[in-house]
Amino acid sequence: MSQFWSDIVHQLDPYVPGEQPEDHQYVKLNTNENPYPPSPAVVEAIQSYPIESLRRYPDPESSELRQALAGYFDLEPDQVFIGNGSDEVLAHSFQTFFQGRDPILFPDISYSFYPVYCSLYQIDYQLIALDAGLRIDLADYQRANGGVIFPNPNAPTGIALSLDAIRGLLENTASVVMVDEAYVDFGAASAISLIADYPNLLVIQTFSKSRSLAGLRLGYALGQTALIEGLNRVKNSFNSYPVDRLASAVGIACLKDEAWFQRCRERIMSTRDWLETALTELAFKVYPSSSNFLFVQHASSSASALYAELKQAGILVRYFKSPRIDNCLRISIGSDEECHQLVDSLKLILNTA
Ligand SMILES: *Cc1c(COP(=O)(O)O)cnc(C)c1O
Repeated sequence: MSQFWSDIVHQLDPYVPGEQPEDHQYVKLNTNENPYPPSPAVVEAIQSYPIESLRRYPDPESSELRQALAGYFDLEPDQVFIGNGSDEVLAHSFQTFFQGRDPILFPDISYSFYPVYCSLYQIDYQLIALDAGLRIDLADYQRANGGVIFPNPNAPTGIALSLDAIRGLLENTASVVMVDEAYVDFGAASAISLIADYPNLLVIQTFSKSRSLAGLRLGYALGQTALIEGLNRVKNSFNSYPVDRLASAVGIACLKDEAWFQRCRERIMSTRDWLETALTELAFKVYPSSSNFLFVQHASSSASALYAELKQAGILVRYFKSPRIDNCLRISIGSDEECHQLVDSLKLILNTA
């Protein structure tokens, strides 16, 4: 607290990311990072990067990376907006589109950055409760609103919505609908195919999860040109150069290695299936996941106790002390070895070894 802070800063309740301890070799299953390294094409792009060019500012428009993403998704370059991680893209999107008279809508259990952006930008919001199975029911969003945002698959539940459900919402919504597809590559259908039909649809994706580049900070929004133009106005009123030269070169190289991308995501999905079975056998209820994490609840042991005992055993998972989910754990899908280690530790903790 300081007398020098503005009123808004006093009121902020900032987002707290999952722990990133540097002091201990934890098995990190708490921040949904990819267990596999970036593609060899990425390594090559970094090693051969002409370092002397770093003295110059990057292209403020990120033209080459936008071109590469447009080509990859079969869109036009002016339908692509790029930012310093999708968190930044989300922040700009909230400021650009969510300033209507009615509150914006998002799920009560969802990405906890959304309410933080609302307080930063003074946007009114209304939480829509997930149903008893912790699913989003988009019928609940068909009411007066200043915009809608949800992750698909949802975080931290991992449960995906169908494209038909999303299309149904778009048909009946005049405001901007943002679909945060941070985890879409692990088994859900992307709404990108709907962009041509809906001028109010913005799809947001990231290189952080399925492309193993969380440390590089690259995210993007896809939508019709008028939406992207609005985002550019905000971005150019904030930071002309959110994407540095090296990140841009790496992003382009990454998109070219489709085989690596497919292999990594398939391995993660198959490890997920194995872990789901193993946890079910240990009396966990496992929500149906289309993401690179599992949301679980044990039949008898409390989530907070399991979180603490796993940490003691050197394994970090995510525990949210929030209403309705404070007896659940979110477990990122690691390598096969890491997931076996998790199951072995849980057996000891639960005394079923
Ligand atoms: C991880 C995540 C993001 C943010 O990813 P960046 O690393 O900022 O690109 C956005 N939305 C959801 C739901 C996430 O889980």
